Amino acid sequence: MNMTRREFLKSAALLAALAPFARLRAQDAAPAAATDEKPAAGPLDRRTMAGESVPLLGYGCMRLPRGGNGKIDRPLANRLWSRYLEAGGNYFDTAYMYHDGESEAALGEFLSKRPRSSYFLTDKMPVWMARTEEGLKRVFAEQLERTKAEYFDFYLVHSLGWGNWDLAKKIHALEFLLEKKKEGRIRHLGFSFHDAPEALDPILEAYDWEFAMIQLNYQDWTRYRSKEQYEKLVAKGIDVAVMEPLRGGALARLNPTAAAILREADPDASTASWAFRWVASLPGVKLVNSGMSRESDLEDNLKTFSPVRELSEADRAAIAAALAAFQKGQAVPCTACRYCMPCPVGVSIPDIFHLWNVFKADGDRDRFLARYAKIPEKSRASACVRCMQCTKHCPQHIAVPDELAKIAAYAEAPA
Ligand code: SF4
Ligand code: SF4
Repeated sequence: MNMTRREFLKSAALLAALAPFARLRAQDAAPAAATDEKPAAGPLDRRTMAGESVPLLGYGCMRLPRGGNGKIDRPLANRLWSRYLEAGGNYFDTAYMYHDGESEAALGEFLSKRPRSSYFLTDKMPVWMARTEEGLKRVFAEQLERTKAEYFDFYLVHSLGWGNWDLAKKIHALEFLLEKKKEGRIRHLGFSFHDAPEALDPILEAYDWEFAMIQLNYQDWTRYRSKEQYEKLVAKGIDVAVMEPLRGGALARLNPTAAAILREADPDASTASWAFRWVASLPGVKLVNSGMSRESDLEDNLKTFSPVRELSEADRAAIAAALAAFQKGQAVPCTACRYCMPCPVGVSIPDIFHLWNVFKADGDRDRFLARYAKIPEKSRASACVRCMQCTKHCPQHIAVPDELAKIAAYAEAPA
């Protein structure tokens, strides 16, 4: 039968809209998918989020490996993703802004060669970049094009808090995304959150969200008030996805004293594995996103999650002691998320904080100064003009200019 182009486009749109339901039927047919908290197909632990059997370890694509030109090292990223799939993982989390859009594109290129129903793709709407109702349409269309995905399995309103929620309401972001859900372009709608627990209340009132992603780890539990956020979500029956389980890698590095406490408790376990096991011990947590940029990190994480070992009382005591030792030496709570970038005058904010935090942990002043000297003058801490652009976007509420001033006074003062 010959089809006109118009008929073809109509049938393609229908197929795209039906694709999510085809996946649901396939999953229903798989025996393991019907039971919660059981492995479905691979050795990785799985839990149920928004009614889907997802791997407990999700692949976060915010910090992918970079090549010498600063772009994503695609051959390495492809190898990492292939290995993750081979181990039974199939949940990929990206966002419009990650790697300036290259994360969505690289992931799209990799995933589009695989059956659409074999993986879960998660993306996010940055209302502060969309800014208007037209902007929402533009960003969403770009995301579909970059990822070649036809639809998103999970989709979040990105980085909500007081400010972004007000903007989301103003530009009717929720209404727009619900329309996309009706069209079959979004299967499960949630939000990610960075603010005080009180800011959650109006968001939770507005819609029956299927899941939400919060910053959760053993340091932020009380310090960032993640405990209160987690409890509010669980009380509402909302499945919790986790970001920053290692707090931007800080809980994988710790400092020598804190790391020694964990090594003594279990010489074979990596410092990162303790943080993952702590997060996984919370029953409301259904998914833990980890940005794995090295093969060794991926292998270590696969080991941790296949399956996750429960924490004993002695394990919890070791974590508490390590945390106390770590917090004594910690400097700036930067997670290297880069939401503050670019700085209008070119200050390398996260790189400077990273060097400073490494120095605070290892005390190697000469190495710190040598590395700091390699930062071009125009990008050093003293170049900050206190415009306060960065502080508006920092999910950790870091007083960036004040911290930079302290670092400049130390690193750039005449010897
Ligand atoms: S306050 Fe300083 S570091 Fe932050 S954006 Fe402005 S100039 Fe850059
Ligand atoms: S200063 Fe804040 S926004 Fe910038 S990278 Fe660090 S945590 Fe992210």
